[in-house]
Amino acid sequence: MPDKMGTEGKLSGKELDEKEKVREEIEKLRKEIQYHDWRYYVLNDPIISDAEYDNLLRRLKELEEKYPDLITPDSPTQRVGEKIEGEFPTFPHSIPMLSLDNAFSEEEIYEFEERLKRFIGDEGIVFEYSVEPKVDGVSIEIIYENGVFTKALTRGDGVYGEDVSPNVKTIKSIPLRLLGDNIPEYIEVRGEIFMKRDEFEKLNKELLSQGKKPFANPRNACAGSLKQIDPAETAKRKLDAVFYGNGIIRGVEIKNQKELLENLKNWGFKVVPEWKIVKGIKETIEHINHIYSKHKEFPFESDGVVIKVNDFKLRSILGEKAKSPRWAIAYKFPAEEVTTRLLWVEFQVGRTGTLTPVAILEPVRISGVLVSRATLHNFDEIRRKNIKIGDWVWVKRSGDVIPEVIKSIEDRRKGIEIDIEEPKKCPACGADLYRPEDEVALRCPNMSCPAQLIERVKHLVSRNAFDIEGLGETFIENLVSKGIIKDISDVFYLRKIDLLKFQGVGNILATKIIERINKKKEIPLHRFIFALGIRHVGESVAKMIAKRFKTLDSFLKANYQEIASIYGLGPAVAQSVVSFLKDEKNKMSIKRMLEAGVKVLDYKEEDQQIKKGKLSGKIFVFTGTLKSMTREEAKKLVIENGGKVTDTITSSVSYLVVGDLEGKTTTSKLQKAEKLGIKKITEEEFLKMIKE
Ligand code: AMP
Ligand code: ZN
Repeated sequence: MPDKMGTEGKLSGKELDEKEKVREEIEKLRKEIQYHDWRYYVLNDPIISDAEYDNLLRRLKELEEKYPDLITPDSPTQRVGEKIEGEFPTFPHSIPMLSLDNAFSEEEIYEFEERLKRFIGDEGIVFEYSVEPKVDGVSIEIIYENGVFTKALTRGDGVYGEDVSPNVKTIKSIPLRLLGDNIPEYIEVRGEIFMKRDEFEKLNKELLSQGKKPFANPRNACAGSLKQIDPAETAKRKLDAVFYGNGIIRGVEIKNQKELLENLKNWGFKVVPEWKIVKGIKETIEHINHIYSKHKEFPFESDGVVIKVNDFKLRSILGEKAKSPRWAIAYKFPAEEVTTRLLWVEFQVGRTGTLTPVAILEPVRISGVLVSRATLHNFDEIRRKNIKIGDWVWVKRSGDVIPEVIKSIEDRRKGIEIDIEEPKKCPACGADLYRPEDEVALRCPNMSCPAQLIERVKHLVSRNAFDIEGLGETFIENLVSKGIIKDISDVFYLRKIDLLKFQGVGNILATKIIERINKKKEIPLHRFIFALGIRHVGESVAKMIAKRFKTLDSFLKANYQEIASIYGLGPAVAQSVVSFLKDEKNKMSIKRMLEAGVKVLDYKEEDQQIKKGKLSGKIFVFTGTLKSMTREEAKKLVIENGGKVTDTITSSVSYLVVGDLEGKTTTSKLQKAEKLGIKKITEEEFLKMIKE
């Protein structure tokens, strides 16, 4: 018997023979299993029984256990890997993952085509479009090198994505190795991961039965599942995926969307259903109507249709704007509206004391999601829409927007409906409410209001703030109601003994939570500013502020003028930050956090995940054909070295790289660059900048 860990060098001739045979058998088993996975998960058309399948898998596992050195990462046994340590690492996308422009009417689709024609400069051109359902899931980009799954990135901020490979690998309909021949040397495929409707409902039922909060919609549930630190957890969630796009491709020539979708299918991917290549807008609209009539049967949520220019050459001519490609548009289905009864109105106190009336509804299904609460925005709205308790109302949900009560149906009143009273006192703490000048919302003025405190603590520990896991909503509510947390800074003074008071919390869990809190005490400045929960200061505003002040000390001394003059910010933010920082209670909270060991790290560009490289801070535009690489490869090089690439010449562009103009004497980019005095460089000079 060969020893398990033995190297081949120690094996005798006979053993080597045997190992070679095993290697062949393993390879054959993997191919078979992969084929049956594809039949089952992609085609929905298995040709062997579960028992037969299990036998194949068992045999493969057995052999791999005997020869662990023959295990490869793309083996079907390797779908569920080890727990992820720490955070998901981030990587740049070779080509940014952009958003799409929206169209809400037929007219806007015609306008889209008009823009294309004008851009190309040919009124008579007939465009071919690919018309596909828009999948409302979580976008993903997967890299395959020589046909083998190597990395999966989320969209992230479009430029950098999170590497969630271990979790994506657990999705059985995604090939770990591409099928068929004609395999590209390198490909980045793009698509959408989603949770099937029935899985979503199952998961929510389970969460509810455990006293946990259910997810609002399948997309949130899917995103949550993809961010699990234990791939085994993700595997349980039974996610699925469909594909429709590409980043860089090398080794196979693909000329248009039709070829892409056909190839993706042959390589073993599920592609978007009901796609069709059509000519002109009239046919486009016909096919939109077809997709609309089918969209409720799709296993994923779909809120519209994506219309894309079919031809890749035309696409590259049309290019991209800052946030979206010029060659595609998303047509959004009209928001679905339904009727139901309004049972009650609850007033919710937010993090900054604002009261929001929330309609409690007789549960009703809208676009596949069960809705039992909808916002009424503020009290003026209730009055304006003339809503009473007991009314029949119209409710709307569009995309990821919170459901909203549109209006009451007066003709269905029976005369027993009750007026909604404007509250005078805070429902959480009893303080007298007030309405700030120029505002429609009522507010609770009490800084120690438990409802506000709960929201502020939830915010403090949330993912993009201190990111403290294990302090869930109910836990926080309990800690506040028992008086253990009286101020946000108390999070950092929690003791094990405080946590042990709660049912279901044992020594191990309590120790773990305290450890997690301690581990997260070091925090970059922008996250800290965000964590404070200052009104009007979301993540991106916090980043802008951190960038301006660099250190906690100088931020704490910030004055109105300094903040208001940050590019992109205005008086509302400045006012809010300054009055927050002036408040004695807030000063004390910050002081106590620091005393408890919170360490706020100075702002660094890296915090923003912008790579420092030779090209950092430099913006490039390309024109003409490059000799040594494709445009996409050049873009990738720039990004990897910390630079940026854009398609339009503006005064902030640092260099225009001029390739072969193929007989032309100038291009529009070149002309514009000359006008603005942008530096022009050759391909050689560009390469030298990187090598230096
Ligand atoms: P949005 O983020 O709403 O601007 O929509 C753009 C996103 O829609 C893209 O980044 C994709 O992730 C997603 N998407 C869903 N289905 C498709 C599709 N068939 N083609 C292209 N993008 C799609
Ligand atoms: Zn209150």
